[in-house]
Formats: sequence, structure tokens, C-alpha cells
Amino acid sequence: MAKQYALDDASVVVVIGSGAGGGTVANELAQKGIDVVCLEAGSRLTLADVENNPPAMDAKMGWYDKRIGAFLWVCKTVGGTTMRWSGISPRLQEHEFRVLTSYGQIDAGTSLIDWPVTLEELAPYYDRAESKMGVSGTHGIPPSEESNNYKVFKAGALRAGYKQVTSERLAINPVARDGRPGCQQISFCHSGCAIGAKWSTLYTEIPKAERTGHFELRANSMAVRIEHDKTGKVTGVIYRDQGGELHEQKARAVCIAGNVVETARILLNSESALFPQGLANSSGQVGRNYMRHTFGSAIAVMPKPVNLHRGARQTGVLFDEQHHDPSRGFAGGYQLQAIGLNPHSISNSIGDWGTGHTEFMQNYTKLAALFITGEDPPEADNRISLHPTEKDANDLPVPVIEYRNHANTDAMRDHAIAASRRIYESLGATHFWGGDAPVGCHNMGVARMSADPKDGVTNRWGQAHDVPNVFVSDGSVFSSSGAGNPTLTIVALAIRQADHIAERMKRKML
Ligand SMILES: Cc1cc2nc3c(=O)[nH]c(=O)nc-3n(C[C@H](O)[C@H](O)[C@H](O)COP(=O)(O)OP(=O)(O)OC[C@H]3O[C@@H](n4cnc5c(N)ncnc54)[C@H](O)[C@@H]3O)c2cc1C
Ligand code: SF4
Repeated sequence: MAKQYALDDASVVVVIGSGAGGGTVANELAQKGIDVVCLEAGSRLTLADVENNPPAMDAKMGWYDKRIGAFLWVCKTVGGTTMRWSGISPRLQEHEFRVLTSYGQIDAGTSLIDWPVTLEELAPYYDRAESKMGVSGTHGIPPSEESNNYKVFKAGALRAGYKQVTSERLAINPVARDGRPGCQQISFCHSGCAIGAKWSTLYTEIPKAERTGHFELRANSMAVRIEHDKTGKVTGVIYRDQGGELHEQKARAVCIAGNVVETARILLNSESALFPQGLANSSGQVGRNYMRHTFGSAIAVMPKPVNLHRGARQTGVLFDEQHHDPSRGFAGGYQLQAIGLNPHSISNSIGDWGTGHTEFMQNYTKLAALFITGEDPPEADNRISLHPTEKDANDLPVPVIEYRNHANTDAMRDHAIAASRRIYESLGATHFWGGDAPVGCHNMGVARMSADPKDGVTNRWGQAHDVPNVFVSDGSVFSSSGAGNPTLTIVALAIRQADHIAERMKRKML
């Protein structure tokens, strides 16, 4: 019998969201014997519901609530976007925790700050996160299987003079581990992994938390607002159930992990007489400094078949370009990652009809492709705000997402595209395309950690500067984006945050 907590049980920690951040912090708390209620807007699928059919899976797990502005490719389901992610799991680098010190303020539009945390402090939590997620090439786990697309990438990279290219750092089991099987190279990773080889909180953190007897998952429960008492201390969360009815779950503390847009929306929507700009927003920074990474794609027609659709969706990372070297004409660095793009994405990327398009599409089996991910500077005007009048089906203000690429991002992408061209042309590529990939997959920054409360929303533990029993447990707390994919860092921070919450509870400070 699954644990059930009463709505008026004010001893529980309420976690909003069950993805990478929420699923992890909830399980870590439950493992310590702390009672947790996890409110998740989406429904709970089983592995039997996962089909190797991208449109069907988009319909089952995609987030389609109304939003205005940029599109974010995120999920509304138990497990969140860990159901859709590719699993690439690099650590942030030392200098990426100190971007203001390392790069200086890039221009008047940017809002760089240093993290109030160092790599050294986070290193033990990275270790725990890698072990939990089963990251290949760490903790005795073998490297990932090398796909053909990766082998072509690696051969070209070495020929182009690069050295740091690896098939390690994937949170997909290369061999059976932690009760889950090894990867079968089926390549539908973005549609959920039907055998559970890829780490997703749906079948790791959530059932583990349930087994502690200290955890209740409430699926189909959309948090709409956080309540507080007259001292400003948070007391509960109002949520809407599947039938549309509103309830309040009382809470001792609240952890928010709705994946950036929803995290900002919940805080902003929780405005009150005491907090007229929204909860935890005396600095005015909630929703600001939204970062997504410099994204881009590079696609080449190779002389012989590659069959890039075979193997895990993304395998292999090139790290040589992730350092900071201003002589390249931009601040920060980037990574190149092999990616098995489907025909639809390739056609959409290349765009115009005509011979250029045909050369790529009729040579699909000979295509090789790379994904570019690089540092994106924070800007106060890249932001999530609430529409002043328009409401969605949950009677919530529609989020407005404003995002534009900075010139630093464009310069970095151009450099990465030129590097990709060199890699493929070193092996005799006959055609090459490189360009932007404007997808909101990596979302960061809207409730950032800051040493000075006026620069951000949370402290070094992800705890709101203004409201000590509110925590932010997703990528919203990133003070800077770094070059690499964010989820390993989200998980490491969530583990660290759970330790902090437990310690404060023990000392009766929460
Ligand atoms: C195609 C794709 C590939 C990716 N590949 C990688 C990769 O290789 N490496 C990497 O590091 N990252 C990758 N990512 C990003 C990764 O998926 C995210 O960084 C990660 O899932 C974010 O975790 P989160 O907890 O912030 O949000 P999510 O995992 O999205 O979880 C948020 C959860 O909160 C729920 N929620 C939101 N609002 C509410 C509310 N009001 N009430 C209740 N529940 C709510 C949502 O339904 C969702 O379940 C990829 C993303 C995509 C789309
Ligand atoms: S390639 Fe591996 S991780 Fe991806 S869906 Fe298939 S079995 Fe799962």
C-alpha cells in the first residue's frame, strides 16, 4: 500500500516536479527518513507504455500547456524530461563557476556573476550523482558502445588535431546495472527508453523513494501557488487535481523543480501583500537571466554509409574546445557531441527545397551529424514573465518567454561550425551544413544562486534568500550555464541540497 499523507499534515516536505531535480531531491530526502509529498503535473507511465514511436510518445509525455514566445521541448509526465533526454553527463569546469572573474562582464546587456559554490565543493556530489545515474566511464562503469556516427566523428576529430574525444559520460547503462538492463542501441532515447537502460527518475528515484515508506507521489497534480503565513514562512502548496479541483497540501518546506519556466511561474504567481513581486523575488531576479546554451547542428554527407540512426541517440563528446580562450573571439567554450538526427530534423535544419536539400536527404545513410552545446551568457532581459491578462486551462497566467541569442553565442556557434566542417572534411565529406538549432532543451538561470541577495534568488544551497523554507531544486539555480549539458549538475546540486535540508531539520532550523 503506497504511503498517503493527509492534506493537513504540515510535517511533510512538498516537492513540485518529479524530473531530474525533483525526483532526486525527493528520493534523497525520503532515504533519510524525511516525509515527502511530490506533486507532479503529468501522469505516470510504465515502461509498457513506452513505444518506439516519437509522435505517439510526444503526445503521451510532451508539455503542451499554452506558452507565449520561445518553444521549450520539455515533458509533463512522471520523470519529467529525463524521459526524453539523451543522457550526456559532463561536469562543469572550474572556471565555469567563476565566469565574472574569468571573462569579465561581456557587455552592458549581460549579467554575469560567479557561483557561490566551487567545483571543489561540488566534486563529492558529482561523484554521488555519477554513481546514482550510472554514468559511463566513471566508478568502474565501462565506456558506452561506439556508434558508427561516433566512430566517424572521432576519426575526423583526431585527424583535425583534436585529442579529447570520448564515448564516456553517458547516463545510459552500457551493461546491466542497478536492476536495469544494458543499452540495446535502439536509438529511440528521445521517446523514452522502452527497456529502462537510460537513467530516468520514473524508474529509478521515484520507486526507490516509494520503497522507503516516506514518500507519496501525487501524479496529475498541478501546483498553482505557494501559501505563507504572516511572517512570510511558507505553509503549503495549492494544487489542481486531474478533475480540476483545488487542494492545499500543508508543508514544512517546499522544493520547486518544475523546469525553469514553471519554477518561475509558480514563484511569480505566489505574489501576496507581503510579497507583491512574487515569492522570493525582493531582488526582482525571479524569471530573469534565462539561459539555454549556445546550440547548433552540423551535418555532413560522407563518402560511405554511416547509418547515424543506429546506436544511442547521442554518443561521444569532444572536450577540446570547452576552455576559455578569448583569442577565439568569444567568452567561454563549447562541446561537440555526436547525434543521430532523424530525417525530419535534418530536413527542418537544412531548410530550403532544392538541390542542396536533396543532396542531404537522398544520402541519409551517408550522413554524419554533430550537436553543438556551449556557454550562454546570462542577460536580465532573457526572461520568463506572466502574461498580465491571459490565463491557461489551469486558470494560471500564461508564461511569456523572451529569449534572444547574444552576439557571443553567435560567434561561438560560427567557430563550432567551422570546427565541425574541418572534422568532416578531413575525412572527405562531400557536402556540409551547419547552423542554429533553436531548441529549448537545456533551461537554466531564472532563480539563480548568488552570494549577494540582490543579484539572485537563492543562496549556495538553492534556498531562497527571502524565504528560508523555500528551495529551488532544478536548473533555475544555475548562476552560469557552463558549456556542457546541465542534468548531472542539477542532480549533484539536488543531492547536496537534500543533505542541507536534513541537517537544518536536525538542528530545528526548518
Ligand atoms: C531532447 C532532449 C535531450 C536532452 N539531452 C540531455 C543530455 O544529453 N544531457 C543533459 O544533461 N540534459 C539533457 N536534456 C535536458 C534534461 O532533460 C533537463 O536538464 C532535465 O530533465 C531538467 O530537469 P528538471 O528537474 O529541471 O526538469 P524536468 O526533468 O523537465 O522535470 C520537471 C517536472 O516538473 C513537472 N512540473 C512542472 N510544473 C509543475 C507544476 N506546477 N506542478 C507539478 N509538476 C510540475 C513537469 O511535469 C516535469 O515532470 C535534454 C532535453 C531534451 C528535451
Ligand atoms: S539506444 Fe539505448 S538508451 Fe536509447 S532507447 Fe535504445 S536502449 Fe534505451
